[in-house]
Amino acid sequence: MNRTLKQHLSIVISAYNEEGNIQALYRHLKSVAGRLPLKSVEFIFVDDGSTDGTCRAIMRLKKKDDRVKIVRLVRNFGHEIAMTAGMDHAHGDGVVFMDADLQHPPKYIADMVRLWQNGSDIVLTKRQDNLAVSRFYKWCACSFYKILNFLSEIPIPEKMPDFRLIDRKYINYLKRFNESDRLFRGMLGWMMPDARVAVIPFVAPERLSGKSKYNFKKAGQLALNSILQFSVKPLYLALWLAILSALFALCLGAWVIVEHFILNNPTPGYATVMATIVFMGSMNLFMFAIQGAYIAKIHVECKKRPLYLAEFSDREEEKEHINAD
Ligand code: UDP
Ligand code: MG
Repeated sequence: MNRTLKQHLSIVISAYNEEGNIQALYRHLKSVAGRLPLKSVEFIFVDDGSTDGTCRAIMRLKKKDDRVKIVRLVRNFGHEIAMTAGMDHAHGDGVVFMDADLQHPPKYIADMVRLWQNGSDIVLTKRQDNLAVSRFYKWCACSFYKILNFLSEIPIPEKMPDFRLIDRKYINYLKRFNESDRLFRGMLGWMMPDARVAVIPFVAPERLSGKSKYNFKKAGQLALNSILQFSVKPLYLALWLAILSALFALCLGAWVIVEHFILNNPTPGYATVMATIVFMGSMNLFMFAIQGAYIAKIHVECKKRPLYLAEFSDREEEKEHINAD
């Protein structure tokens, strides 16, 4: 381990309509950063196409503190892409990712840096049970992770939020992923086996201001995307359903023969035939839907569109692009 390499830290904060939180978050970050045993810290705020005063709030901070950097995306691209944009603009030997709503308390950055400088490549956080979260929500989250881990080829842990420190070596690995539908949790699981990983437990407080950006529909989409991105097992479901329905058809056929020839009691077939047709039809449609979902992913990925577009940022070429317009 070379300690001298671990002297520059980037903190990436993704923000979508977080105007009420930016100032308070910055105050906390500034006080934590002042005490870190590092040569430099940069705060990279990614404004993910906010429509409120988030961008103005960040620009105000930038005027006062040249450690503050901004990446303003042209529209809302979603949290995972916002983190990617921040990662692409980070220069540090290590990068901390965090939310803008103070649910990821900045004080833990000091512990992250200590563990990193003592040899960890990746410092994750694990959310302890928060009493304010409803039982139903906990049950949904727990069931989702059980299904995801059953289907996924790589382990995707529960209660590990996007509050983490990643060493430059693994940031460079992450930059080589170019899928557009991305899930950092899954990408980390895929590439992590040789990394030295430390985990810090923490209790997430309520968000300081504003509302969560994840409603039931968005959370459902994220869940479905995670399955489609990290597992092809649903595609093989057709095979199992085909085997099961063939067995069912065989048993049904045998029963009809026994009833007809041995028990001399021909079965009135109408209801059985209808039930079988409807059942088989719905299974077919179900499998078409699964295949359609994967084809849709291929359709999006093969276009190789840019992951995001930055309206402006501190990067030279993006500044020039703005000036040229
Ligand atoms: N966020 C983002 N783009 C989005 C949605 C969310 O950059 O499209 C940011 C958001 O501003 C916050 C973080 O991602 O800093 C987590 O979002 P949120 O707090 O709404 O999620 P929750 O904590 O409720 O899961
Ligand atoms: Mg939050």
